[in-house]
This record gives sequence, C-alpha cells and structure tokens, in this order.
Amino acid sequence: MSKPTIARAYDALLGGKDNFEPDRDLAAAAEELNPGMTVLAQDNRAFLTRAVSYVANELGIEQYLDLGSGLPTAENTHQVAQRSSPQNRVVYVDIDPMVLAHARALMVENDTTTVITADLRDVETVMNDPGTRRLIDPDQPVCLMMVSLLHCIPDEDRPFDLVQRYLGAFPSGSALVYSHIASNDAEHARILTERVRSAAPWGRIRSPEECETAVAGMDLVSPSVDGTAPARLVDCDTWRKPGTDPVEIPDKLTWEHSGIAVKP
Ligand code: SAM
Repeated sequence: MSKPTIARAYDALLGGKDNFEPDRDLAAAAEELNPGMTVLAQDNRAFLTRAVSYVANELGIEQYLDLGSGLPTAENTHQVAQRSSPQNRVVYVDIDPMVLAHARALMVENDTTTVITADLRDVETVMNDPGTRRLIDPDQPVCLMMVSLLHCIPDEDRPFDLVQRYLGAFPSGSALVYSHIASNDAEHARILTERVRSAAPWGRIRSPEECETAVAGMDLVSPSVDGTAPARLVDCDTWRKPGTDPVEIPDKLTWEHSGIAVKP
C-alpha cells in the first residue's frame, strides 16, 4: 500500500474509494502532466458500457473474458451483459489481488461470474484456470475484453501478439472490445509514459497506427450508432455515442483509440 498500483490509481481517477495516498498521487501527477486524464478514464468506462451492451444485444455473445478488468466500479461488465440476458457469463482477470478481494466483498462471484488473479501474459494459466473452464465454452463465440489495458504491457512482452494468442482459442464470430491510450505527440507520450513507469510497472502510450495492430485481420464494427460510418477505431468518447459523430483522430493530447472487432 506504500506503492501505487495501476488498478488503484485508475480507481482514483474514476473517483472511487478503493485507493491510497500513493495511488492518488500518481493519478494527480497524470492529470497534471496530461490535463483531461480524469475525463479520459470516465469516457473509457462509458465506452466499455456501450460496447458490452452492443456485444450482448447486437452480436448475441453469451460469454465474456474481461482481461485487466480493474476494481469493481459503477457499471461492471457482468451487470451490463447480464442486463441483456441473466445467463451471460463473465470471467474477470486482473493482476492486482485487490480486484478479487473487492469483488468478493461485493459478492460479484456467483454461478455466472468469477474473478481470477493472474497475469494476462500467462495465457495458459488464464485459459486453464478452473473459473475460466467452468464459465467459458471455447467452442462458442467469446467476447475478449482488452479495455484500457495493452498500454500496461511493454513492447518486449509483445502486447499485440496476446490478442491473437487469446482469440486463437476461440471460434469465428468472437469479438474483441478494445481501447488503448494513443497520442500523436511522441514527446508528450514519452514524458507521460516515463512518469507512470517511475511509479508502477507499465508499457507505453502508442501512436494510433501502433494501436491498430491489435485489430489487424479482423472485421471492425462501424463506430456510428446508425452503422453507416466507415469501420475503424475512434476516440472512445465518440464510439456509438448517441448524438455524436465518430472521430478517428481527436484534437487531444491523448485519447483511448477504441472499437469492437469481430474474428472472421
Ligand atoms: N479494463 C478496465 C477499464 O477499462 O475500465 C480497467 C483498466 S485499468 C487502466 C488497467 C487494468 O489492467 C488494471 O486493473 C491493472 O491491474 C490491469 N493489468 C495491468 N497489467 C496486467 C497484467 N499483466 N495482467 C492482468 N491485469 C493487468
């Protein structure tokens, strides 16, 4: 508790209560270096809600593997997915053991939802965990969630290969819900990355083109509510948001490059 974690600092950005002073200090430093970081976190959560709702209602997917799920907050994946169908199943995975402790305290774990403490880079451990095996049928389409996650993974751990390693185990029609912090300002990205890395293990902010590597070879969903906008990743705050046109490269220092891609 004397050192910040990414899960707790993100909770602090979201205005949650499951954090300590070092986490709040890191969140405040990120906001100071990158004004708008707090709004970015909130917009990302709102994107997650719209995206899970789309997957459950429009794609009809019944099972969700939410990697790097974070601490429980207002609208969690299982609440959104199970609003569409109470039988939808959710496996949360996070490296921070506090996620499991808080999920248990909130009684998130039940017949249809479980929480695993694991490093997502250890794909075999996640896939072979008894919770995953109980709730995820690898012969049926799965919604893989990597939301605001892969910038936590350094280049040497090949973050984008992880997408293929997980999706490779699932059938066509499986979906990826994805967001990644992007910037077109390499110097700003470097400074912010170094500040976060000085406090906790982290990857880096990447260019929008780098972020797009995650969805190569997949069918992107149109980011406009009416489905007419060209399929591409966009600022999370404009993805299928009623009354808003999707914006691919916003006029911001950083944003979450976001979307849903379906395995062909
Ligand atoms: N996905 C949630 C969201 O978008 O609201 C939380 C995003 S938070 C920025 C990133 C989360 O990924 C944190 O909870 C952190 O603990 C988790 N994380 C980072 N590296 C991880 C790893 N190697 N394995 C599993 N979880 C990881």
